[in-house]
Amino acid sequence: MKKIMTLGLISILAAAGTLFAAEDVNPLLIKVKPAKITPLKKEALAWVDAAMPELSKLNDEIWRAAEVAMEEYRSSEALASYLEEAGFKVEKGVAGLPTAFVGIYGSGQPVIGFLAEYDALPGLSQEAKTAKNPVKEGAPGHGCGHNIFGVASVASAVAAKDVMARNHIAGTLKVFGCPAEETVEGKVFMARAGVFDGLSCCLQWHPSHDNSVSLGSSNALNQFEVEFFGRTAHAAGDPWHGRSALDGIELTDVGLNFLREHLQPTARIHYVILEGGGAPNVVPDHARAWYYVRDIDRESVEKDYERVLKVIEGAAKMTDTTYIIHFKSGVHETLANRAGGEVVYANLLLVGPPAFTDEEQAFAKDIQKSVGVEEKGLSTKVEPFSLPEKSWGSGSTDVAEVSWLTPTTDLSVAFSPLGTPGHHWSAVACAGMSIGHKCLAVAAKVMAVSCLDFLAQPQTVQKMRDEWTARKKGKEYKSPLPADLSAPAKLKQEIQTP
Ligand SMILES: [Zn+2]
Repeated sequence: MKKIMTLGLISILAAAGTLFAAEDVNPLLIKVKPAKITPLKKEALAWVDAAMPELSKLNDEIWRAAEVAMEEYRSSEALASYLEEAGFKVEKGVAGLPTAFVGIYGSGQPVIGFLAEYDALPGLSQEAKTAKNPVKEGAPGHGCGHNIFGVASVASAVAAKDVMARNHIAGTLKVFGCPAEETVEGKVFMARAGVFDGLSCCLQWHPSHDNSVSLGSSNALNQFEVEFFGRTAHAAGDPWHGRSALDGIELTDVGLNFLREHLQPTARIHYVILEGGGAPNVVPDHARAWYYVRDIDRESVEKDYERVLKVIEGAAKMTDTTYIIHFKSGVHETLANRAGGEVVYANLLLVGPPAFTDEEQAFAKDIQKSVGVEEKGLSTKVEPFSLPEKSWGSGSTDVAEVSWLTPTTDLSVAFSPLGTPGHHWSAVACAGMSIGHKCLAVAAKVMAVSCLDFLAQPQTVQKMRDEWTARKKGKEYKSPLPADLSAPAKLKQEIQTP
């Protein structure tokens, strides 16, 4: 009800149009002034500028490697080596994940985390060109810009370390190499293993269409596969001897589609059938499907999931088949942090959005033309900082797990042409050239100087932690994973789009 009134107020004020400047009509807007430049921040910004040739090379190397979830051996090695050379102590293969690592520098409080991701997406191979043009047809590509993500996070920590070392600043930096974000898994296993324990706060970012800091959440999720087992038979000769595993899947899906009506409007269920038999004239004795159950928070997902399990059981009874559930991963809803967001946003205003050249804007517009969207180029502004219009998100992310273990900040920096789809060849094209490099530099700078603020302002970190404690509402982190589920060594199935 309160939400409806708020949105109603916005539309009334918006209808007043010319009477108000855009900023005045948004009651959700939070006013934040640009952060002040300090000598230490100047040092960090200069470090990033000086390192850009090397960082761009590393960015392009990971872009070319384009390794999918749980296969990011070269990418994680490249980032871990970079940290080691910069004086970080690196532990590889943490939490039973061969491509996960933690790089540590310094000692004492505060302990500041940085999240780095580096997995690519299957089938998105693309040259740094303005029309669809795979480097290798069907090969993976960095359609979510995780090559920039990994390098900028590592660079921001090294920039902060450089300032700390030269100015004898106490504190600990921890860079987390997080594999398999695209399958929403890496950080969930790392969280369960205690890898993120003991942080004062954590910085994370993502390459995007815009330059912003979000206070929104994301959906909690359970994802799992169901395998049905039946009995094969000649589909015309003696079908009465057959028990169709595919029927098990189909009746599960019919049941779920009826179930939707009686779940909260925030619930989302989606599925794909991965295997449904070989030929119509053979009763399939084996079938497999992959399901997502999402909702506004962990408790809701768990309730929805219980009901989904009953539908599966019912389908097995109806078809006289058996089934196994393979739980793959689960995540929480993200806990936003306004106190931390204000620091990062003030520093985003200080650093400013990427300054794209006319050629880069022309490159982006050519892409928009190829894709068939309005030729608006790349974002050149910083979006307003505001409270979210709704308290839940559409997608899911394993960053949510970290946000339940320590106050975690958000940041988006533009690299994708406006209006182009996510997880798309156009994003791959921009991530492997100067547009991606400019995004990288801004993200690295904003996170580095935000880290310096956290090091210098224990009161801000305390405020973030107080807010985080309040947002948890007395709940402690409990892994969504079953205790007996081991970390995936390698994922075989197709990728999803969180
Ligand atoms: Zn991503």
